[in-house]
Amino acid sequence: MPAAPFVSAQRWHFARAVALPTLAALLLPLWVPLMQQPLWAVALLLGMWFLVGGVGVSVGLHRHFSHRSFDATPALRAVLGVLGSMAAQGPVVYWVSLHRMHHAASDRPGDPHSPRPSAWPGSGRWRAFWRGHVGWVLNHDVPRPTRYARELIADPLLRRVNAAYAVCVAAGVLLPAAVAWAVLGGWQGLLFGAYWGGLVRIALGHHVIWAINSCCHVFGQRPHATADGSGNVAWLSLLSWGESWHNNHHAQPVQARFGHGWQQPDVGWWVVRAFVALGWARLR
Ligand SMILES: [Zn+2]
Ligand SMILES: [Zn+2]
Repeated sequence: MPAAPFVSAQRWHFARAVALPTLAALLLPLWVPLMQQPLWAVALLLGMWFLVGGVGVSVGLHRHFSHRSFDATPALRAVLGVLGSMAAQGPVVYWVSLHRMHHAASDRPGDPHSPRPSAWPGSGRWRAFWRGHVGWVLNHDVPRPTRYARELIADPLLRRVNAAYAVCVAAGVLLPAAVAWAVLGGWQGLLFGAYWGGLVRIALGHHVIWAINSCCHVFGQRPHATADGSGNVAWLSLLSWGESWHNNHHAQPVQARFGHGWQQPDVGWWVVRAFVALGWARLR
């Protein structure tokens, strides 16, 4: 059980970074004519979800920072850290520490977001699934960065990106707002961009990443006999940029490639290959 100040910080972050975008996503259409321009809405939502969820979270926070599956130039590291922070899932050092904690104790006590009763002694199947999907966000053990992300806190560049977390989250809302203001014009354009590319994208992004934690540890095919309950969930693969080939990932966590073969699309891997081709990254 984490100390009271940490629980309070987690709940405060939940209120601002999870509940607010989700409520806004559900309620704003009631009073703002935001349903106009549906093609622009989809373009802003998917464009920002690709940049933040695909490049920032999947390629940056997960494959590069958490698993060090490829080396990157300092400029690319900074961009990946900033884009990953825009997801509003916590600063880089926290995200990486928490994820390494997940791999160290997958589906056993100590796994911060397992959806299986094996990780939460005394919990039934549904309660464990709820805790694994979203309940953990409100109250979980805080990973120690000195244990889980020592190389990141030793990196001055990463320390700066980490400290700028709140600015990055705000930039992730203001960027699509500025694009929509330039293209569609007026305060309605501004609000339209902030809504679809910012708030709705953050709310959707949380649930996609949480679904990797929950659905991909309960459902899916298990071609690799890993010690955890991870599975490959095909229907989530495009929305999660390849993250849902999760059994493959747990079997070979250091591999930058999650999808095996053309039947398993892995957009994150295609992005890594593009970075390698451009000379910005090198596979380990
Ligand atoms: Zn996992
Ligand atoms: Zn991982």
